[in-house]
Amino acid sequence: MAERFRAVLISRDEDKNQSVEITELGLDDLMEGDVTVAVEATTVNYKDGLAITGASPVVRRWPMIPGVDLAGQIVTSDHPDWKPGDKVILNGWGCGETHFGAYAERARLKGDWLVPLPDAFTAEQAMGIGTAGYTAMLSVLALEEAGMTPDKGPAIVTGASGGVGSFAVALLAAKGWHVIAATGRTGESDYLKGLGVAEIIDRVELSEKGKPLAKERWAVGIDSVGSHTLANVLAGTSYGGAVAACGLAQGPDLPATVMPFILRGVSLLGVDSVMAPKERRLKAWSRLASDLDPKVIKAITSIVAFDEVIETAKRILDGSIRGRVVVKM
Ligand code: NDP
Repeated sequence: MAERFRAVLISRDEDKNQSVEITELGLDDLMEGDVTVAVEATTVNYKDGLAITGASPVVRRWPMIPGVDLAGQIVTSDHPDWKPGDKVILNGWGCGETHFGAYAERARLKGDWLVPLPDAFTAEQAMGIGTAGYTAMLSVLALEEAGMTPDKGPAIVTGASGGVGSFAVALLAAKGWHVIAATGRTGESDYLKGLGVAEIIDRVELSEKGKPLAKERWAVGIDSVGSHTLANVLAGTSYGGAVAACGLAQGPDLPATVMPFILRGVSLLGVDSVMAPKERRLKAWSRLASDLDPKVIKAITSIVAFDEVIETAKRILDGSIRGRVVVKM
């Protein structure tokens, strides 16, 4: 009998009403690819919440298995880089959007999309990091490549108790930055201080329309929030500083002026994780392996069972999840 496995499936009816369920599929139901992976762990990102609820048009092919991140073992391979038993990670590449993604016990993928699971991590730890931690690392790399060093002044992280924000805090603090966390959860100060935060500000200070230029309060920023928050982060960045923009939790707009760029030489650095080339991914995962204390991953992560993935994906959109959630298969 052909192998059957559990999968989350998002479907659409003729009227474009979306529904989601956990169902059983066979290997023949999977899309084309040159490797098949036994998924050991996955995670719930903000984007997965958008896909499962249909709140944003993340899914572009129907039906769809959502899930943008997975860690697991190669079962079969026609790709020269991979053999059965190899441990791998997948982040992005359109999985859960145009190609069947991570919320299934089996995934068929392109071998070119995969990176090896670093020896430093288990599959669950890698999914604790997931696209959020990998994006935080890409943001740190962008700042470093722009010549930013901790002696230039403080670093602000917005959305600090979210997935990207928590890892951005931990990675910057580990490299000696004085980290200012902007958060709506000022009551979570023990959590943020445990990750290395030196100062906490209420996110409302940044969430309304502000001045084109404000007092210089930080040298760099990692922003996963966008909108007025990013505009205010730019306005408060000191001369010659840089801000990595990677998210839109407040909104995709950028109601800013050019003043920080033309009067203070501030740089705005764009960060994308989905289509980042393999070399960049290998660099980010190698730095995550060397910079992250496993205790930090544990502090940021909670674990849910596969049966809870749909409910968890809905909760991430209302901001009721702190840090990261790993889904154990
Ligand atoms: P989370 O939901 O885990 O974190 C988002 C955080 O943003 C929240 O915890 C909250 O932090 C803050 N926030 C939420 N709503 C608002 C608001 N209205 N105003 C101000 N702050 C708000 O999501 P992730 O960390 O997984 O993702 C964060 C963003 O980054 C998303 O927009 C996501 O799409 C994007 N992203 C982009 C990637 C890329 O490739 N560029 C990759 C991964 C994510 P707090 O509670 O501390 O206030």
